[in-house]
Amino acid sequence: MRVLAFLDGTLADPDQAHIRVDDLGLLRGDGIFETVLVTNGVPRELGPHLDRLARSAAMLDLPAPDREAWERTVQLVIDNWPRGEEMALKLVYTRGIEGHPAATPTSFALGMEIDDKIKAARRDGVAVVTLDRGFDADLAQRAPWLLLGAKSLSYAVNMAALREAARRGASDVIFTTPDGTVLEGPTSNVVVARGRTLYTPPPSLGILPGTTQGDVFRAAERAGWDTEVTTLKVDELGTGDALMLASSVRKLTRVHTLDGERLPDSTKVHAELAEIYESQYE
Ligand code: PLP
Repeated sequence: MRVLAFLDGTLADPDQAHIRVDDLGLLRGDGIFETVLVTNGVPRELGPHLDRLARSAAMLDLPAPDREAWERTVQLVIDNWPRGEEMALKLVYTRGIEGHPAATPTSFALGMEIDDKIKAARRDGVAVVTLDRGFDADLAQRAPWLLLGAKSLSYAVNMAALREAARRGASDVIFTTPDGTVLEGPTSNVVVARGRTLYTPPPSLGILPGTTQGDVFRAAERAGWDTEVTTLKVDELGTGDALMLASSVRKLTRVHTLDGERLPDSTKVHAELAEIYESQYE
């Protein structure tokens, strides 16, 4: 099941071709996206997702997204999705047609089912490997043209890292800088629980400000936890009470194995935090 809507308010058949071969999103990965989780007809953290879409657009010098049109398009897809069924809703915004004098962005929203691998990860946790991302902690500040921290469509490296994880017997990745500073996953943020405090690395490292991580942190604070956005080193990852990955579709996923080493059982801490997060949406 999939539902496709364009930003002009038209629904379209997702099994038909709609994108021109000279679209710069296709030719160069020159565009941005968001993936929003929709449960019970409610898009989670839509405001922060649209804020981040606008932030990514500004970083890529794309026209500012029309927020109201995106809100309407999101609602249109939701209205055409079976109520009660979860959906991963992808918002895509590319630079449009190459060489077109009045190029306008290509903009669409595509609702998709949550695949079984993601459901298994939510339930059972994941094995993760750390991989060098090859840039230093200050690169995002020194070289903004590298677009670190923009949610661009250029995810070939992120997907290659996941294949490398599979070759090493794991299913996910935590990227680090060459000197062992923790960055993020290819599609997630890193969250460590130690005592009654949650930690996550800062976006100034050139990573995405996570909507799920932010949502989890706010919910945890209301439940009496402390939170800290701070630099973490790779050797701290396995020493807390729980290591987790946060992302819209995966929610808060427990990491049970890190670089081939089984971590101490974190099921209880993870279950408590997952419940704190989830109970906001019940
Ligand atoms: N970091 C990267 C590189 C991502 O691609 C994603 C989401 O796909 C995240 C972090 C998590 O962001 P969110 O919680 O907003 O889904």
